[in-house]
Amino acid sequence: MSATLSGGCLCGAVRYTVEQSVRFDAYACHCTDCQTRSGSAFGIQQSVMANDLTVEGPLIRGEHIQPSGAVAGIYACEKCLTRIYTDNNNRPGIVNLRAGTLDTSYHLVPGAHLWTASKLPWVVIPDDAINLPGQPADQVGWIEILKPTPVESNG
Ligand SMILES: [Zn+2]
Ligand SMILES: [Zn+2]
Repeated sequence: MSATLSGGCLCGAVRYTVEQSVRFDAYACHCTDCQTRSGSAFGIQQSVMANDLTVEGPLIRGEHIQPSGAVAGIYACEKCLTRIYTDNNNRPGIVNLRAGTLDTSYHLVPGAHLWTASKLPWVVIPDDAINLPGQPADQVGWIEILKPTPVESNG
């Protein structure tokens, strides 16, 4: 399987590619913040290294101060407002793609579901997925969820 990911916004003005030096598992977040910010049932996040991401097209930046005090930057297409990715000043170097913007989103299977205590009642979590009522308490817990795996380059 190729280590390259690609995707873009609804109107096509923003396109991106990711040459993955590190591969992460995707996860679904059922917290009420993700429900509000996505206007949907849950968010699906695909972490990538910030240095691996190349974006072309006009992005605008929004900001959200999380309960922890961390500042999340939200980057969206200037024309159609599709949100492409977020970053967070508590974890420099890593960004979270809004995974539905991936060209290959059909093949995306979240390895973990977080904040299932606040999931919508009709959402059924697969038995083989990690299912946490909240989120990992520390970095070790996050590594168990995201499973960062270095990708060997062929070059
Ligand atoms: Zn757009
Ligand atoms: Zn969330």
